[in-house]
Amino acid sequence: MAIMPPFRIVQTESTKMALIVQKYGGTSVGSPERIKNVAKRVARARAEGHDVVVVVSAMSGETNRLVALAHEMQEFPDPRELDVVLATGEQVTIGLLAMALKDIGVPAKSYTGWQVAVRTDDAHTKARIDHIDADKMRADLGEGRVVIVAGFQGVTAGGDIATLGRGGSDTSAVALAAALKADECQIYTDVDGVYTTDPRVVPEARRMSTISFEEMLELASLGSKVLQIRSVEFAGKYKVRLRVLSSLTDEGEGTLITFEEDENMEKAVVKGIAFDKNQARINVRGVSDKPGIAYQILGSIAEANIEVDMIIQNVGAQGTTDFSFTVPRGDYKPTLDLMNGLKADLGAAEVNGDDTVCKVSIVGVGMRSHAGVAAQMFRALAEEGINIQMISTSEIKVSVLIDEKYMELATRVLHKTFGLEHA
Ligand code: ADP
Ligand code: ASP
Ligand code: MG
Repeated sequence: MAIMPPFRIVQTESTKMALIVQKYGGTSVGSPERIKNVAKRVARARAEGHDVVVVVSAMSGETNRLVALAHEMQEFPDPRELDVVLATGEQVTIGLLAMALKDIGVPAKSYTGWQVAVRTDDAHTKARIDHIDADKMRADLGEGRVVIVAGFQGVTAGGDIATLGRGGSDTSAVALAAALKADECQIYTDVDGVYTTDPRVVPEARRMSTISFEEMLELASLGSKVLQIRSVEFAGKYKVRLRVLSSLTDEGEGTLITFEEDENMEKAVVKGIAFDKNQARINVRGVSDKPGIAYQILGSIAEANIEVDMIIQNVGAQGTTDFSFTVPRGDYKPTLDLMNGLKADLGAAEVNGDDTVCKVSIVGVGMRSHAGVAAQMFRALAEEGINIQMISTSEIKVSVLIDEKYMELATRVLHKTFGLEHA
């Protein structure tokens, strides 16, 4: 059985091999059996001589269950109290994993986010980590213990429990790795690395042995949920060596997120495809085409703390303009209400929208030096009769907004068009 195959580091005689942060997601700790397996994996890393800090998620389905419970109490749960409820999921798994480790003779200690002082800002349900105090963890490691920390949670300056947004345990792990100056942060999940697209949607998707930081950041921000975007941002900022691996097999080196181009990196122009259903489109039609209109529309949305993604402004009839933009699907109704409230002020002819849309994106640093990639994408979609509602591009990505019923078809077609199933 390969033991910690991804980890290559030169061992000197007197020093421990390395400090590793391992993160196990919901499926990986989804049952007592799986938690015991995680314990075995952690024990192996320790037997190899590594210091290990483990970050765990709640058992799969648990955070959703807690969200649903909260919604039974209040239509829009109070964010502070919602965080109190949501953070309980991870507290269960840290304790269970500590027990499983002790049961096989490995000294371990579990900590909630506030016990190890993961300090966050006040933005409940989407808090950002400001600071982590690594002293306590270092002391435990020095005494030969495995340290287990609850992911997804921290504590505000005022002492309140805060959570980091869905998928936030990835970010906890990378932030801890940065604070501890760990040699590697390993994200163990239910797939054995980062694929050219979600392998659940495209069975032909291929695992990449490496992916550049820039491309990973783009894929994560465009909806690939294999890593939470903030974890990738953290890895970039603090140059954390970050790897995605399977907790369900012992095989393979997973995918390493690299910061430098190396000659082994795949040269494909398009490297990956992401999709995102968390989208809704709003149209404001027939507003007068004059300076300040975009500000009037988008300023009010920014004030309501709603994030706007894609934007299109078209010249309409008789000195008017049509304005369309996208917001997260959960903000669809509030945004429509806001625009209807402004309709008279704007002199708009019509406000409407659609919350059954999705965004599909192709990503690759090779696009910088290749023309015609977008055209190839649009042709492939046209050949399938898929209508493009909006487009946005950057140097290394092209995104289209389409009807959500075509999301999987579009992803499969683009995967094929850009030859992603072949190495
Ligand atoms: P965890 O609970 O371990 O955090 P997630 O469900 O958050 O796991 O993330 C892993 C899932 O991400 C995979 O099961 C897969 O369906 C999905 N996924 C989306 N895009 C990709 C991709 N490009 N490569 C690998 N997995 C992806
Ligand atoms: N348990 C949290 C969630 O389901 C955090 C995580 O799993 O990363 O979003
Ligand atoms: Mg996740």
